[in-house]
Amino acid sequence: MMNGTNPMDVFLSKCRQRNLKITPQRTAVFSALADAEDHPSADAVYQKVKKEFPNISFDTVNRTLIVFSEIGLAEVVEGQGDPRRFDPRMENHHHFYCVTCGKITDFFSEELDKIEIPTQIEQDFTVISKRMVLKGYCTDCRK
Ligand SMILES: [Zn+2]
Ligand SMILES: [Zn+2]
Repeated sequence: MMNGTNPMDVFLSKCRQRNLKITPQRTAVFSALADAEDHPSADAVYQKVKKEFPNISFDTVNRTLIVFSEIGLAEVVEGQGDPRRFDPRMENHHHFYCVTCGKITDFFSEELDKIEIPTQIEQDFTVISKRMVLKGYCTDCRK
């Protein structure tokens, strides 16, 4: 999340800014996502939140996650043909995607952050973020 800021504070202030009601369900969806290090799908977040709120529907969780991504509390990470995944980490980072188990691992690299955008791309598009996605086999799957 944002540098040294408590994720829950960021959540509360973003909700207030956008006039989004801070409900216990919304808070639970947010903490489930913020605690996850594996870029969970909506279903994975739903499975966690359901333990606390047995009556919550998958749809509510899914919609809440989409709202979070719209207001800058999460990012949508497109996997390879799997359901949409969510990333609570908003600072600049890169991904390693395991083609066997689908795990997405964050990594940081100042070298990669410095890579220049090709001029043609800068001319034709407006770049708002830059991320390197590496694909391969994770430590577990390589065995
Ligand atoms: Zn793997
Ligand atoms: Zn990430």
